[in-house]
Amino acid sequence: MTLVQTTHNANNNLSNPFLSLNYEPAIESLGDDYYDEVAAAEFPQHILRWRNDALLPTLGLAPQTVTDEHFIQAFGKFEERQPFLALRYHGYQFGEYNPMLGDGRGFLYGQVRGVDNRLYDFGTKGSGRTPYSRGGDGMLTLKGGVREVLAAEMLHRMGVNTSRCLSVVETGMSLWRGDEPSPTRSCVMIRMSQSHIRFGTFERLKYFQRPDLTQRLLDHVIEHYYPHLQGEEDRYALFYAELAGRVGKLVAQWMAVGFCHAVLNTDNMSITGESFDYGPYAFIPNYEPYFTAAYFDYYGRYCYTHQPGICRYNLELLQKALKDVIPLGDMEVGLKSFDREYRKEYRRLMLLKLGFEELEISQTEELLKSTLAFLKHYPISYHHFFADLADTFSSKWRDDASTILRESEIGKSLGSTELFFNWSGIYHQVLTNFSTDELENVAKNLKQSNPKTVILKPVIESVWEPIVQEDNWQPFDDLVKEIQLSQ
Ligand code: AMP
Ligand code: MG
Repeated sequence: MTLVQTTHNANNNLSNPFLSLNYEPAIESLGDDYYDEVAAAEFPQHILRWRNDALLPTLGLAPQTVTDEHFIQAFGKFEERQPFLALRYHGYQFGEYNPMLGDGRGFLYGQVRGVDNRLYDFGTKGSGRTPYSRGGDGMLTLKGGVREVLAAEMLHRMGVNTSRCLSVVETGMSLWRGDEPSPTRSCVMIRMSQSHIRFGTFERLKYFQRPDLTQRLLDHVIEHYYPHLQGEEDRYALFYAELAGRVGKLVAQWMAVGFCHAVLNTDNMSITGESFDYGPYAFIPNYEPYFTAAYFDYYGRYCYTHQPGICRYNLELLQKALKDVIPLGDMEVGLKSFDREYRKEYRRLMLLKLGFEELEISQTEELLKSTLAFLKHYPISYHHFFADLADTFSSKWRDDASTILRESEIGKSLGSTELFFNWSGIYHQVLTNFSTDELENVAKNLKQSNPKTVILKPVIESVWEPIVQEDNWQPFDDLVKEIQLSQ
């Protein structure tokens, strides 16, 4: 009987493409100073609510060969694989050091080499309690899973360097949460990311005064995520400078697309410079610099406009954690890449949102200043302004400034204001340098950089309501498809 059972499982194992992927024990081989082995919770129910077929080719899998049951077996029931590693980390949360962190409701399921030759993490969220759960239940609400899927797909569409979700399995538990009508439904989500090593992973090693473990982890990070630096004599300093540059670039991407991450604690900062962990995030409705997304962020510490300063500060905090291995002076110099990359990327992306690949620096400054002054002054949607620009753009705008945005609601209501007049005058001036062929490229850039649909809060609620009311997933599925396919 036992033998039959074993054979049956082995066949299952082989036939489930997720179980025969190319897993590499990258973190595992570092030894158990960095993690605890844990087990997944057993759930009363497993309903696959979402699968991200767009990620499967990266894993070398053809979507039609992967069944829903394969997803459930691997990422709901957690059969046939181990070890699962709850990663250890600390972090500064809202400015206070917290040594009581770590994967409290997730673990590293495995690490896989993609067809692009990059190493990817499968991390869980909502898979049960671990030694780091503190008072928590180890679970994720279904709405939390839905929100993270939407954030990641939207940011990816907008060109932000982000983790993405691979699957969401509803798990049939009733959860109690202060920030959702409760009881509320549960799920387990799989996140595919470059790495779950955080600034806080290094902060913990400093806290325990273990420069040996810091150096071992740095070598690991360089080997897998900064491989071009291997063999350089000053690779640690170069790593820090490159990380600072990557973070500068990332935060510029958030700012340009109008994203407020909301919880920029150092345990939510990836050592690869990738954006991840989407809880109470929001896309800004209007260009309101002090817009704050998390209801518990009473003083607006992580508001939209503070994001560049906070990320830079988090990089400064990281210097304290790394200073036993990397000379402080080198890191101070390295931090300059943050400023340089931030400025460069923000300008580049804002110009693209306005349709342009490159302009003279003075013209760029003038155009961005007047655009933001206009957006700041009037209560108009940041996203709709750019979407309208993309939607109504016409080569006539080059020949007659008064036609700019005239067909859009914004132009109709604000076209006679001084700030609009200033902005459209400058925009027109820029367009006069473009040939008709080049204007086609402007139209293309506008469309690419400004998707029509952005997941502002009411949009998220509009797909969540049918799920709550009648278990209708169609609007959610349609929205994700629209995001993924929009150009
Ligand atoms: P987050 O706000 O999701 O970045 O989480 C911060 C810390 O709290 C991490 O250590 C999480 O693992 C932990 N945590 C958050 N929610 C829960 C929960 N429901 N159960 C256990 N731990 C949790
Ligand atoms: Mg987190």
